[in-house]
Amino acid sequence: MNLNTILEVKRPSAADQISQWREGYAWLAGGTWLFSEPQVATSTLIDLDGLGWTPLSATADGLEIAATCRVADLHAFKGPAGWRAVPLFRDCIDAFLMSFKIWNAATIGGNICMSLPAGAMISLTAGLEGVCTLWPRDGQPRTVPVVDFVTGNHKNVLQPGELLRSIHLPASALSKRYAMRQMSLTRLGRSAALIIGTAEDPGAKEGADFLLTITASTPRPVQLRFAKMPSAEELRHALNEQLPVDGYFQDVHGSARYKRHLTYYFAEQIRAELA
Ligand SMILES: Cc1cc2nc3c(=O)[nH]c(=O)nc-3n(C[C@H](O)[C@H](O)[C@H](O)COP(=O)(O)OP(=O)(O)OC[C@H]3O[C@@H](n4cnc5c(N)ncnc54)[C@H](O)[C@@H]3O)c2cc1C
Repeated sequence: MNLNTILEVKRPSAADQISQWREGYAWLAGGTWLFSEPQVATSTLIDLDGLGWTPLSATADGLEIAATCRVADLHAFKGPAGWRAVPLFRDCIDAFLMSFKIWNAATIGGNICMSLPAGAMISLTAGLEGVCTLWPRDGQPRTVPVVDFVTGNHKNVLQPGELLRSIHLPASALSKRYAMRQMSLTRLGRSAALIIGTAEDPGAKEGADFLLTITASTPRPVQLRFAKMPSAEELRHALNEQLPVDGYFQDVHGSARYKRHLTYYFAEQIRAELA
């Protein structure tokens, strides 16, 4: 849609060209959400496209995903053979409700900054122990784990004008085994639950660690880490402890009770698959 409150579009070639942040400014990534509804409080868009960030850089340490990397680019990524979790990129992207236009224009950073419970790129990067690099307007860069970046439905830790620069996925997480489950109340609807488990190989360490990342059914990602693979009983107990009955997200895509049921059901399936 046309945004008739926009007076100016800035196209910087470096982020520090925007030294002063004013009310009404907004970073523009793929624009798929920004142009989907009126933005009455926004008067200036600052296009990130001219920054020319390399979308994906793979090194021995892991994968650096620029915030401006398009969903379609991540979908096409093929990592080294040892990165066994790379197929999870596609599993999560396929769980993302989107049209052809969103598929080709939306960015990984835009999806994370929207901070929706059903943000599939949040699920993916939190599940793979991603760490965000943030560029404040007037300070040194800082890093925040993805799991702590989102603080609630459409809420995150970004300060006014702060830019999400990139997300780092460590090679150690990319090399793990994984299992994922997702459910929507309606076909092609938003995720009601998207749950990811990762684990080391049995024998790699005593008992193989297990990381469970719960998204979509909760307003923000919830992570449960176990030093060794839990039993079904231990997992259920940990869920009871860390996720109170009122800790689930209720909306038109599912009641909190339904999402809680899916969370327990899928968590146990994932545990059994990886055990
Ligand atoms: C019809 C429709 C259905 C959708 N369904 C889903 C769904 O099922 N699941 C889901 O997760 N999302 C869904 N979305 C929203 C989707 O998350 C966004 O459209 C998309 O991911 C945003 O990416 P973008 O690059 O286009 O961001 P933009 O629209 O350009 O920006 C989104 C927001 O993030 C800010 N932003 C963008 N990049 C940065 C950055 N690097 N640093 C700081 N701030 C930044 C912008 O200022 C803006 O506030 C849907 C959207 C639409 C229109």
